[in-house]
Amino acid sequence: MNAAAELVVAIDGPGGVGKTTVSRGVARALGYQSLDTGAFYRAAALLVRLHRTDPDDEAAVAAVLSGADLDYRDGVMLVEGVDVSTAIRTESITAASSRLARLPGLRLVLVERQRAWVAVRGGRAVVEGRDIGTVVFPGAAVKVYLDAPPDVRARRRAGQTSTRLPEVATQLGRRDRLDSTRATSPLAPAQDAVAIDTHALTADQVIARVLDLCRGRGIEPAGHPA
Ligand code: C5P
Repeated sequence: MNAAAELVVAIDGPGGVGKTTVSRGVARALGYQSLDTGAFYRAAALLVRLHRTDPDDEAAVAAVLSGADLDYRDGVMLVEGVDVSTAIRTESITAASSRLARLPGLRLVLVERQRAWVAVRGGRAVVEGRDIGTVVFPGAAVKVYLDAPPDVRARRRAGQTSTRLPEVATQLGRRDRLDSTRATSPLAPAQDAVAIDTHALTADQVIARVLDLCRGRGIEPAGHPA
């Protein structure tokens, strides 16, 4: 297994649970970089649309992504060097990314890109997604599964967008179902993941809990050597 994985902090969980806020906070404290793997699936959906590829044609989708120049820097998703951060957050791309994410051929390509991104950083990365602790980095030093009731997640997500709450709740429910019932890499906690219910916690409290877990594995916040 990938030696770099021994330093990785894996953060999985459903949409709207606070993964990005927590990942960025933990990364900042550790002097790590954070990787939002969902941005890769969203970028894939954007590319498939731009190339007018049939999203059900797995081989064609994988071919488009294999040749694509994808990067993620300081929270910004780059496709062919262009910042697509706003373009990948539309409702239509969000829905398309979850449908594409069921394709094993696409996942294979994106998982390799994510592992390479982390390897270049010597494993010092907080990686968030749906399958990080189970598939991408099963050897991660720390595995966390964040969860919260659907209505709480929908309210949080609605607060971040202009879409109304009932619609956000419906969309999140649909994505939850797609993500947790697909045959390949379904959303699920790794057996050795620590589950944190973020419902009654602030982001800072969740970050502190994750940093405690990191310390337990010998990963100290920057400036506090072990
Ligand atoms: O995390 P985010 O909501 O941006 O992810 C968009 C979609 O990408 C998810 O609904 C999921 O279908 C897919 N995804 C995935 N595996 C990951 C990250 C995201 O399947 N590791």
